[in-house]
Amino acid sequence: MDLGELYQDLILDHSQRPHHFAKPPGANRVALGHNPLCGDRYTVYLVMEGDRIAAVGFEGQGCAISKSSASLMTDAVSGKTRAEAEDLARRFQEMVTGKGKDEGLGKLLALAGVSAFPMRVKCASLAWHTLKAALDSRAEPVTSE
Ligand code: ZN
Repeated sequence: MDLGELYQDLILDHSQRPHHFAKPPGANRVALGHNPLCGDRYTVYLVMEGDRIAAVGFEGQGCAISKSSASLMTDAVSGKTRAEAEDLARRFQEMVTGKGKDEGLGKLLALAGVSAFPMRVKCASLAWHTLKAALDSRAEPVTSE
């Protein structure tokens, strides 16, 4: 898979040294996400203060794409409002499925290359689906579908 050297380095870096890779103190929302096609499995934690994501963290295991995507997701949504995070999630999903414009996505653009690889799209999307589930405080695990 050729994602370009710069983006490959970014993905590798985030998968090896993921950001916010812990349960944040005071977490009041949680969701488990599972991508059975690849075996990726993550728990996303949120500390919601009203409508704002005061802190976010994740734990779990999976492939480099899913882990780097989760790490980049936590960077992207920290301090955002719920509406802003949901908007980012929607635009990220459009990017990795090859729709929409890639504007204003910053480092998330590192994952744009997965749109050519349907199996990898599920890996890249998993953290965002799990984020949405955490925002909704669903009790059941979600898949990346
Ligand atoms: Zn995966």
